[in-house]
Amino acid sequence: MSTVSESGVVDAVAKELFIGGKWTAASGGRTFPVHDPATGEVLCEVADASPGDGVAALDAAVAAQAEWAQHPPRERGEILRRSYDALMRRQEELALLMTLEMGKPLAEARGEIAYAAEFFRWFAEEAVRIDGGFATAPNGTGRFLVTKQPVGPSILITPWNFPMAMGTRKIGPAVAAGCTMVIKPAAQTPLSMLALTQILADAGLPDGVLNVLTTTDSGGVMEPLIRDGRARKLSFTGSTAVGRKLLEQCSDKVLRTSMELGGNAPFLVFDDADLDAAVDGAMQAKMRNIGEACTAANRFYVQRGIADEFSRRLTERMAALPIGRGTEDGVVVGPLIDEAAVEKVTTLVNDAAQRGARVLTGGSTVDGPGNFYQPTVLTDVPADARMAAEEIFGPVAPISVFDTEEEALAAANDTEYGLVSYVYTNDLKRALRVCERLEAGMVGLNQGIVSNPAAPFGGIKQSGLGREGGTVGIDEFLETKYIAVNL
Ligand code: NAP
Repeated sequence: MSTVSESGVVDAVAKELFIGGKWTAASGGRTFPVHDPATGEVLCEVADASPGDGVAALDAAVAAQAEWAQHPPRERGEILRRSYDALMRRQEELALLMTLEMGKPLAEARGEIAYAAEFFRWFAEEAVRIDGGFATAPNGTGRFLVTKQPVGPSILITPWNFPMAMGTRKIGPAVAAGCTMVIKPAAQTPLSMLALTQILADAGLPDGVLNVLTTTDSGGVMEPLIRDGRARKLSFTGSTAVGRKLLEQCSDKVLRTSMELGGNAPFLVFDDADLDAAVDGAMQAKMRNIGEACTAANRFYVQRGIADEFSRRLTERMAALPIGRGTEDGVVVGPLIDEAAVEKVTTLVNDAAQRGARVLTGGSTVDGPGNFYQPTVLTDVPADARMAAEEIFGPVAPISVFDTEEEALAAANDTEYGLVSYVYTNDLKRALRVCERLEAGMVGLNQGIVSNPAAPFGGIKQSGLGREGGTVGIDEFLETKYIAVNL
């Protein structure tokens, strides 16, 4: 049970725009409501930025860039480190705030605060490791001097499903590299970002380095900033459909881009797998974040010899999960983000059932209030079911059976996405063979969670461009400059 009050954590957040180091009302004093997805109730109102407010935020980021780029890397790192400490010190209240606006159970929200904070600790360490090079040219007379510089003012756009971690995963490397920023969190979950903003300001982030826009007009406010030409970078996390649109906008002024887009993760279980481990991994890969994760297992392919037993055990585990408001003790399955998400899951499950899938558990919504859907397991899901091609983004596990490794790989790779895949097998040769042939930026080999701030996170195909985290994460915010030296 939490020791901090719900109204207390909401009241404590500044609900205005953050521009040039000052909390500022949106022009015209416009606001919009933030809802609790478990009850539908309004938690509070936050500032609703206009395109003009957006330009003011970009002006502030541009004005701060030159000085920020000169700021000693050690001090940039120390701001991140102090922010890490503050996030961990205030983990409980920030977790409650996140649960209220997003719905995930408190235990998972606590986990996300720790995960989010870890990006700051990691990039605090990376800030002082930006390297360069000095080499002799092949002809022996010249010298190559290679150095790295901040890309420049950056636009960051984050989704609602991990309201804190998707922000720190971008802000951490941008701060470490010396970039200023305009960040726009999703309108459904702005409160975590607003709380984080105050933490960074309190930790000593100079005015203008981080500017925050909350708005119900994401396209109208952000497109002019992307097309403006003064921002040099867009880092986006969200759906592939929106990512495509933003890539087109970025082409106008040739912005650097990092794109963390949608996923359609296959989860392969071979006959030789440790079945207990595979079921545990399946629960994690499917149910983390109520299924609302880009890394969520979207398709389960299980080899015939263990398919019935795997389905039986997964069904038993899914059917036993407690559903409820994320603030309640013991709840594992919170509400989906909104009614549209429930409708989408309902449509995909009905479509699969009409095409011959069998519902082993769940398969329907939970009576309101709130946007709840039952943990669901489907088997005999045909390849032409819509959920084989689309992100479910909910607590639904579709199982299909395969006979051969070739068949499993062909099914797994039969998607426009390539974010993550999961493989369960105890055969080392098969494990490496399959990992190499899976078309994904990340593979969970005998484990159901891959995310780690110290590892490179990202996808191939239409799941994105670039990587966040790891030793390569900071490069997304750095340009390489080569100086040809004539001695
Ligand atoms: P979304 O609809 O694409 O929105 C993502 C962000 O983009 C939100 O802040 C949204 O703001 C904003 N946005 C929407 N339209 C825009 C436009 N025309 N111009 C500028 N900004 C715009 O995605 P979502 O539903 O929030 O998030 C779920 C998706 O994100 C899933 O596809 C999931 O797989 C993906 N995701 C990927 C990763 C990864 O690392 N690869 C991580 C998490 C999530 P508003 O909502 O306020 O309009």
